Amino acid sequence: MMASVVCYSEDVSRLAELITFAKATSQSVLAITTSIVQEGIASFGEDELIVAGPVEPQKLDVEGVCELIKKHISSDTKLVLLSATKFGKEVASRLGAKLDTAVSNDCKSFVLEQNSVKVVRMVLSGNGVSTEELSKLPAIVSLQSGLLVPKPSEKSANVIRVGYTALSKSLTLEVKSKGGGVVKLEDAEKIVAVGRGVQKREDLSMIEKLAAVLGAAVGCSRPLAADLGWLSDDQWIGLSGKKVKPKLYIAIGISGQVQHIAGMRDSKVVVAINKDPNAPIFANSDYCIVGDLYSIVPELIKALSEKESG
Ligand SMILES: Cc1cc2nc3c(=O)[nH]c(=O)nc-3n(C[C@H](O)[C@H](O)[C@H](O)COP(=O)(O)OP(=O)(O)OC[C@H]3O[C@@H](n4cnc5c(N)ncnc54)[C@H](O)[C@@H]3O)c2cc1C
Repeated sequence: MMASVVCYSEDVSRLAELITFAKATSQSVLAITTSIVQEGIASFGEDELIVAGPVEPQKLDVEGVCELIKKHISSDTKLVLLSATKFGKEVASRLGAKLDTAVSNDCKSFVLEQNSVKVVRMVLSGNGVSTEELSKLPAIVSLQSGLLVPKPSEKSANVIRVGYTALSKSLTLEVKSKGGGVVKLEDAEKIVAVGRGVQKREDLSMIEKLAAVLGAAVGCSRPLAADLGWLSDDQWIGLSGKKVKPKLYIAIGISGQVQHIAGMRDSKVVVAINKDPNAPIFANSDYCIVGDLYSIVPELIKALSEKESG
């Protein structure tokens, strides 16, 4: 079909968010996914849903997805919406280059005008807001997740199943677990995040124990993933990492540089543990615990475990 807005995500819950955004423009919406889609799945108001594959997550390739989306772009298409995940942003950038068109990543909102798309996104580590006008169409926009609750529609989706061709020349040799528990960091209601205040890799077991007692996901500051490799890239929070907004965020041994704050500033309640009373994290915290994490974290585990059992 010829659609004004084409949405793609490899994750059906993220796709539902994109469709809900797209439907608000009152334009025709074509949704595409490479995920497993059960018969009778709830529609979110899309006019058509293309299910390619399904493709196992480790076999998804950016080139294959770009070609899949390109096939469904018509002269009517004004906007391609993607989710601002690491994969989604890579697809956005490559697709933009292939189509020689405008791209904006990590957006918070957009307005579809007659001949352009206006987007709003955070800049300067989340300290500023930039409004940009993309006048080359179709514009490619990746949206942050969790900005709205998808609204299921009365109408059932017209589902079309197609094949998927991987085009990447690289080969997956091994798939490693991402760590950080079963809950995705972006969806977690509670996060225990750890920073350079932890001295040794083995000490992370104490942090994981606290997370387990609380039923929380484990996140970290960039050095722990990018420099030390103690935790995975999927666990680092901040400007260049994941953006999270849990109900509870516990920052342990994290100084609170602007780049870290940019990823967790939307958390509801922030508890920080740091031995430096002047650590910048305290300016962004609701509860400030000044002290040595090596004595405070075991105390917390003990108190929470006793509460749990008694
Ligand atoms: C372009 C760019 C992008 C970046 N993106 C990110 C990003 O996405 N995410 C991110 O996190 N960083 C990012 N950074 C890095 C960022 O600037 C900081 O260097 C980093 O966040 C610091 O990590 P940290 O707080 O764990 O370490 P540190 O700044 O070294 O802080 C360690 C803290 O632990 C405390 N501490 C030490 N020992 C103890 C103890 N025993 N008990 C209690 N507290 C203790 C110290 O007082 C200190 O406050 C980026 C930097 C650049 C330039």
